[in-house]
Amino acid sequence: MTFSELNLAPALLQAIATCGYEEPTPIQAQAIPALLAGKDLIASAQTGTGKTAAFVLPALHRLLENAPATRRRPGTPRVLVLAPTRELAQQVADQAVQYARQARIATVCLYGGAPYPVQNRQLSRQVDVLVATPGRLLDHVERGRVDLSQVELLVLDEADRMLDMGFIHDIKRVIKLVPKKRQNLLFSATFSDEIRALAGTFLIDPEYVESERRNTPPDLVKQYVYKVDRERK
Ligand code: AMP
Repeated sequence: MTFSELNLAPALLQAIATCGYEEPTPIQAQAIPALLAGKDLIASAQTGTGKTAAFVLPALHRLLENAPATRRRPGTPRVLVLAPTRELAQQVADQAVQYARQARIATVCLYGGAPYPVQNRQLSRQVDVLVATPGRLLDHVERGRVDLSQVELLVLDEADRMLDMGFIHDIKRVIKLVPKKRQNLLFSATFSDEIRALAGTFLIDPEYVESERRNTPPDLVKQYVYKVDRERK
């Protein structure tokens, strides 16, 4: 399968070509068509499988194809990605900026432990994609700088880590603040009962996709076995 077969917007295909990606990774080939069709998705994928582009590309496609007629107020994102750590949030935001280079899409990244003034300034302008750690996001919501009432797509990235870090109550508060009618996506490397319970509360009839299993050798690595006696080991 090629990226052009996925029917992504031309601006995104150009960005993908600039990045030098030749073909979609398995998780991308499965997730992108389902997300473009508007389905909810639960995905089991580790870092390094191309999982970020698997949801960032369809999210950007949606923003490009269904541009609203009126300008939205500042700090009113259409795509919201929750991530457990500053590093992961920044990686997701960096990829969004990279793929949206040819498009007029504004991405903002919010995380705790960083000063407020820079984030406040970013939120005083148009925001299309907001990537955030849950606690700092709610801080900004309480201060009236972020309005989640226009969110069309909600992504929980590395949901298992967010639960491990004690973010469950924050996540539930965020889910109450976004519109009922929206698309949802949950990425997790593992599926505990807690993750299943969370998925059950906010995903609607989700499609399930799984990346290659951990510990499978890459195709380009040849493996040989030589049987030897114990003395000749
Ligand atoms: P991730 O699993 O999202 O952390 O992505 C791992 C890395 O793979 C990132 O640096 C991406 O830039 C890169 N990547 C994503 N999709 C592709 C692709 N289709 N072909 C080659 N590299 C990719």
